[in-house]
Amino acid sequence: MQKSIFEKIIAREIPAQIIHETDELLAFRDINPQTPAHFLVIPKQRFDRLAEVPADRDALLGRLLLAAAEVARKEGLAGTGYRVVINNGADGGETVPHLHLHVLGGRPLGWPPG
Ligand code: 5GP
Repeated sequence: MQKSIFEKIIAREIPAQIIHETDELLAFRDINPQTPAHFLVIPKQRFDRLAEVPADRDALLGRLLLAAAEVARKEGLAGTGYRVVINNGADGGETVPHLHLHVLGGRPLGWPPG
């Protein structure tokens, strides 16, 4: 299978502004930020989308969420708030086939999304 863009970032084959890393996940700034603060949290193991994560990897999903909250706090977003989004598949707006959490903040966000 061809490497996803995010696998290339994990492998340092393409550059990214990495802000957090563990042995199983990576957080880096989105190249096309939609809000003043916009970063992505990804597992190093590739799942093309949320729907493909097996039930026995539930703890990994929990750690991705906890990492999103930890990095948001370090980025100074905890007080004003932020949004965590997972786009799953075509209608969800997913463009990179590698599970990722968007963390968006730094300004008030509308709801529902368009
Ligand atoms: P999706 O639309 O799949 O939910 O989100 C993919 C995100 O990845 C988009 O917000 C897009 O800007 C970001 N992205 C795509 N390519 C790159 C890249 O090469 N580097 C970084 N840092 N972000 C990327």
